Amino acid sequence: MTVRTYSRTDLIDPLPSRHFIDGRWRESADGRTFETIDPSTEAVLAVVARGAAGDIDAAVRAAHRALHGDWRGLSPAERGRLLFELADLLETDAERFALLETLDVGKPVKEALGDIRGVCATLRYNAGAADKMEGATIPLGRDVVDFTMLEPIGVTGHIVPWNYPLGMVARSVAPALAAGCTVVIKPAEQSPLTALAFAELCQRAGLPDGVVNVVAGFGEDAGAALVSHPLVRGVTFTGSVETGRKIYAGAAQGLKPVVLELGGKNPMVVFEDADLERAALDALDGAFGNSGQVCSSSSRFLLHRSIREEFLDRLAAGAAKLTVGRGLDNCDLGPLVSKEQNAKVRSYLDQGRASGATVRLGGGRPKGLETGYFIEPTIFDGVDPASALAREEIFGPVAVALSFDTADEALAMTNGLGFGLVAGVYSRDISRALTFARDVEAGSVWINGWFIGGVQAPTGGIKESGVGRERGLPGIRNYLSIKNIGIRL
Ligand code: NAD
Repeated sequence: MTVRTYSRTDLIDPLPSRHFIDGRWRESADGRTFETIDPSTEAVLAVVARGAAGDIDAAVRAAHRALHGDWRGLSPAERGRLLFELADLLETDAERFALLETLDVGKPVKEALGDIRGVCATLRYNAGAADKMEGATIPLGRDVVDFTMLEPIGVTGHIVPWNYPLGMVARSVAPALAAGCTVVIKPAEQSPLTALAFAELCQRAGLPDGVVNVVAGFGEDAGAALVSHPLVRGVTFTGSVETGRKIYAGAAQGLKPVVLELGGKNPMVVFEDADLERAALDALDGAFGNSGQVCSSSSRFLLHRSIREEFLDRLAAGAAKLTVGRGLDNCDLGPLVSKEQNAKVRSYLDQGRASGATVRLGGGRPKGLETGYFIEPTIFDGVDPASALAREEIFGPVAVALSFDTADEALAMTNGLGFGLVAGVYSRDISRALTFARDVEAGSVWINGWFIGGVQAPTGGIKESGVGRERGLPGIRNYLSIKNIGIRL
């Protein structure tokens, strides 16, 4: 198969570099900027406006005016029609959006294209659901009619990470718009470009000015100001546990509802009766897809002792064939997103070696890639279950292998961490797999497959992995408030 390669001339030109507020591009009020870096080359990709409290205030006020203006006049079906139009425009421009994502975060174009198609699917699902959200009638007795109405909660703030920059925007913004809210988005400082380009596309699709606003910038100034702004009535955050705690505390001051989608250390539990070919194939994508920078990656392998060698041989054989390189060249793995992320993952590699774990594959910089934040697909074996490697989210292309002898032991290891995002189990015994699914502490459980799900299936974590659910109809309900109306006859 020939894989197409791309160059910068295929890109959106000029690169979006200013905030998008109230339907137009704006510099920061204080004129400040920051650089976004191409992680494949370590060169500056764009100089972008750096937002602070004043820019957030302008964006929130624009969203508030739109909420009480043109947007409120549209019926849910009309909102849905605009979201369908937006999805069509994005699909037409998918390749240029994918290239922008690739340059900003490093991922291979083929993956970025898949992400953009996922955004189109998310927009369409929510577009179709916009006019299907209904209240209820409540049986209070013969002399009373009581019913509920669903209303948009108001202006919502959306703070997103860099691993799926536009995907994470769409996951919460599409349902918020379908519900009738207006939004202010704060993309990650590592990856602001597609969110900015998307805001302009919203306008081209016909969404009124001020319905979708994007303020680029850093968390501690722009992000925190968004959370605490009094006109923001709900906050959705996707990112790390540490930041999630700060956002929860900030939102509590204003008694705002939150959705927090946080990190994980997701176990893939492989029993002795599993289809090992299937499990090892899934593990390749689970551990190394997006260079391991996935909240739901299979970041711990809990292997029954009798099959561990065969499983790891298969995984290592597959991983050794993965190509690493620039996203534009469409390799299997791109670089890590940033200098900081690169340093963080490398420190885990050092800690792993120091703790006595064996490097079964990789562990260094790929040959021939002297610049860029590249790390080889790495497999650690013989890992101490008490070590940082086994317990902390690494967020890099690092597979960690642990062993168990009994199902109870596997369950105790699975539930023994603070995280509770995803757990996967591989077994041909459906009763055993379902027993495990019942007892496991996680928001999602996958049986004999990894990355199972889609825009229709709710996702989210329990324990330290988060609060609330996104996707599916629960994803829209996050943005609807219930009003109860009673009438005495
Ligand atoms: P992060 O927490 O460092 O940053 C995420 C966002 O929060 C960025 O936009 C950042 O600017 C902003 N931010 C930082 N400090 C802030 C503050 N004090 N107030 C307001 N905003 C602030 O996370 P990251 O490194 O960008 O992303 C990686 C993390 O995201 C991983 O832990 C990963 O598991 C998680 N994640 C979770 C899901 C999920 O669905 N559960 C999906 C993707 C990523």
